[in-house]
Amino acid sequence: MKLTFLGTGTSTGVPSIGCDCEACLSDDPKDKRLRVSILIEHADKKILVDTSIDFRQQALRAGIQKLDAVLITHCHVDHVFGLDDIRPLNFRYGAMGVYANDIAWQGLQQFFHYIFNPTHIGGGLPQLIPHTVVKNSPFCIGEDIEITPLEVIHGKLPVIAYRFNDFAYATDLKTIPQDSLDGLRDLDVLVLDCVRIKAHTTHLCLEEALEYIAELKPKRAFLTHLNHDIMYEREKHLLPDNVQFAYDGLVLTDD
Ligand SMILES: [Zn+2]
Ligand SMILES: [Zn+2]
Repeated sequence: MKLTFLGTGTSTGVPSIGCDCEACLSDDPKDKRLRVSILIEHADKKILVDTSIDFRQQALRAGIQKLDAVLITHCHVDHVFGLDDIRPLNFRYGAMGVYANDIAWQGLQQFFHYIFNPTHIGGGLPQLIPHTVVKNSPFCIGEDIEITPLEVIHGKLPVIAYRFNDFAYATDLKTIPQDSLDGLRDLDVLVLDCVRIKAHTTHLCLEEALEYIAELKPKRAFLTHLNHDIMYEREKHLLPDNVQFAYDGLVLTDD
């Protein structure tokens, strides 16, 4: 299993437009964050989690040439607004399997009305093969990756966290229901939401993220969806040994 962080920033990205705080002015590449997304690669399959608003730039930067599927966590702009940019992959490989929960599909049909109700003439449309995921109902992509969708709660919105064998990706959440907690145990890698140091109404803050990590006891944990409160070097002393801030371009492997 290989996990690449394509983006690790909160909805505005870091730097944030017009901001002159220390993090936004930082020269450290670990403080430059596109909107959150990861790429999972295993046994010749490539799976993208979220077509972020920065997807085109991320795909070019990571040299993505093919994807076998796209998984959507939830239908918020920062996570899905790059969906139109799967078109070059459609041109080469045909329609793409896209997985999302029912409420995310409702949102996607509103955001991307032109895809689902094409009315105009001319212009290539993204080609999707929609799949609806149901929490705690695993599915496979290829023969070697079992994917378990787990529901987490982002304010009031049910969001899907995805477990890939012994790796899991859980972003945009404030609480993890008990059945999903049970699905996040015995992990090699847990990637978890942590928007900032102080409390937030719909995301985990640092203290809450560390509490969940202490309870779930993954071998390693990585915090993502970071805003400009957090500088990689300045804040890393706040983390226990098995926890790290994720950064764009970071690659994790299990071998
Ligand atoms: Zn988000
Ligand atoms: Zn969100």
